Order: sequence, then structure tokens, then C-alpha cells
Amino acid sequence: MRRDILSRRHVLTLAAGCTLTSAGVASVVGDTAGTDEEMVSRASFPIREGTAEETTVFVTTAAAEGPTAVVVGGVHGNEDAGYTAAGQIADWPIDAGTLVVIPEANAVAVERGTRTDEEGTNLNRQFPEGETPETELARAIWDVISEYDPDILIDLHESTGIYAGDPTDGVGQAIFHSDGGEATAAAADAATYVNRTYVDDPDRAFQLGPFSNPENDPSGLLAHKAARDLGADAFLAETLSTDIELETRVQWHRAIVERLFEDELLLDGTDAGSVPDEEVTEPEPDASDDDGDEPSGTEPPVARIETRPRGLADTTLEPGQTVTLDASQSSDPDGDLVRYEWRVGANGAFDRTGETIEVTISAPGNHPIALRVVDDDGATDTDRVTLSAGC
Ligand SMILES: [Zn+2]
Repeated sequence: MRRDILSRRHVLTLAAGCTLTSAGVASVVGDTAGTDEEMVSRASFPIREGTAEETTVFVTTAAAEGPTAVVVGGVHGNEDAGYTAAGQIADWPIDAGTLVVIPEANAVAVERGTRTDEEGTNLNRQFPEGETPETELARAIWDVISEYDPDILIDLHESTGIYAGDPTDGVGQAIFHSDGGEATAAAADAATYVNRTYVDDPDRAFQLGPFSNPENDPSGLLAHKAARDLGADAFLAETLSTDIELETRVQWHRAIVERLFEDELLLDGTDAGSVPDEEVTEPEPDASDDDGDEPSGTEPPVARIETRPRGLADTTLEPGQTVTLDASQSSDPDGDLVRYEWRVGANGAFDRTGETIEVTISAPGNHPIALRVVDDDGATDTDRVTLSAGC
């Protein structure tokens, strides 16, 4: 299944562009509005329950078949962007497959704000390949991961230096990836995407790094074990934590994961199987739900964009065409929505409000639209569509 999806993605990437119109493709983000939440089931459970290391595993399962992905954060407790992003990713709606997220793998280290636990144990050295992990916590994490046997594993980290082909000066702004053409291509695509979309300074462009050989240090890494013991396409994303706002670093992590999922777990609102790759789902470059500390006990809202007429997000529009965007299918499970905010275009502010807005497509190309809804608890959710106009 996954191989088919990957093959399709590559073909579509080549085919995408102005010449590709979407003859008759009907199902889009907007048209599935209101159904996504019914089509995913969510569960969570603790590991290391009753100990200081107790942490939660979040599992989201889509109705549509698809690959299984595991996202891990907080293996190192001082790498805030990794565990913050993972905590947000645990809430993502997915269109297909199964998403397993362990946001705070090393809860003790996260609590302490340190790389290691109080014994100085580096959790990311406790996963020797072909062997049982070294600590109780590592074994509990590995039990979950091997049980779900993921197709994709992404471990989110940070570094104080930029990777320069050698880990000694730091490993930031790099996507390390398992061997194999598909993982390499997916990492390259994610790096290109995040660089183009979210990195202004070329010195901070994300690079690729292959996993080190099992004989070489560092060894015992979770992502290495997932790749080599389970055959997962595994990725270790590292952002630079020095002199960069947390919000930006979280955005980078989210964008990398989103792109690695694209066409696999995140189908951009399309029915599995049938749709061009040109509508890129834009991660939100804003702080809307990036603080990760919504009051516990409140349910976040669900943002949904529909187009009027329906289905326009999957078609090629004419420049000059006006589209109505309707947020009325957004909802809040435990209250009311108090604000609908829109951002039109890839950059800029959420400076339009209202349950519906009209957008006139002024130029050829892709025009990302984001809707942020705010509920009466102050919690937010964001949905996105891309309107494309032909050349
Ligand atoms: Zn780390």
C-alpha cells in the first residue's frame, strides 16, 4: 500500500504544474468538512504508569486505510520545539492510516528541562539495534513502537549548532534519514519544502544527513533502531535552538512532519488514490495553537473550510474568478466558536474575519488560504485549502 502511494507521489510530483488540471476530481478538503472527526478515532494510554517516567501515547486512527506513522518528541528534555511540535501533532486530524505520537518520551527530562534524566541517562543511546533496549523507559517506548510496527518514524530534536557534515559542531537544521531511495527522497523533499516555505536565512537551510553506520558512534538511537529492526522509513529532525524563537522552531518541525506525511497520512483532503499533488497543505506560520497549553479538560475546536461552489480547491480556477469560503462547518465540541479569522496567501496576517469570506483569484499559481477558529475557551484550530489558478 505504502509503496503504491509513494510511487504515485513521485509521478504526480513530476506531473504537477500548470499543465495539470484536475478533470472531474471532486473530493476536497472542503467537501470532507465535518466528516474528518467522525472518520478518525482517538485513543491514548500511559506507559511507565505510576512512575516518574509516566508519559502518554496518543493514537489517531483514520477510517481510510493507510500507513502507520510514529512521531516522538521529548527524548531530550531540553529540546522544547521537538516536544512542543509533537504535542500539537498528536491532535492532527489525519485522512488515512494510523498516527501514534509520544510527545514527551522522557517525561523526567522534560520536567527538568534537561537533556537527560537525573541519572544522566541519555535516552537516545538506549536503543541498540537487534537487542533489547537498555532501560525500562526505553523498553516501554520500544514495546509501543514495535507493536505498531510503523512504516514511518520521525523523532524530533534540537541542537545548539548547525550541522556541517559532521556532528561535532552540532546537528541543527538537518533531517537525518534512513537508507534507501524513498526515505532519502522524502527527506530531500521535506527539506526543500521547509526551506522554501519557512526559512529566510540561507545559512539556516535544512540539510540532509544519512544515518551513521551501526558500527560508528553515535549508536543506540531510536530512529536507527526503527529503521534497522523494523524496516521503517525513519527520520530524525533537528532544528537549531540558538537565537531562534520557539514558535519558528516548532513551525519547522511541524512543516517537516507534515511534508513527510503528505500523500500518505495527510491526503490534503483528497480521496485516497486520485488526486494531483499541486495543492500543498500549508502548515500554519502563526502561533494560534502553538503554545501547547490549552486548558486541560477543554476540547479544542475543529476548523473546516468549504468552498462555494463546492470542490473548487481541487480544480484549476481562472484568474479573476471569485470563490466563497465557508467556515460554517467548523465546530466546538464543548462550546461555541467566537471568532473566524482568515489568512489569504502564504504570508501575512489573519486579517480577515467572518464565517464566510469571498476571495478573488488575481493571478495564476497556488493561493493558500488558512482559517483559524477560536472557541469560547480561547482554544484554536486551523484548516487550510489551496486555490490554484491556471496559467
Ligand atoms: Zn536531541
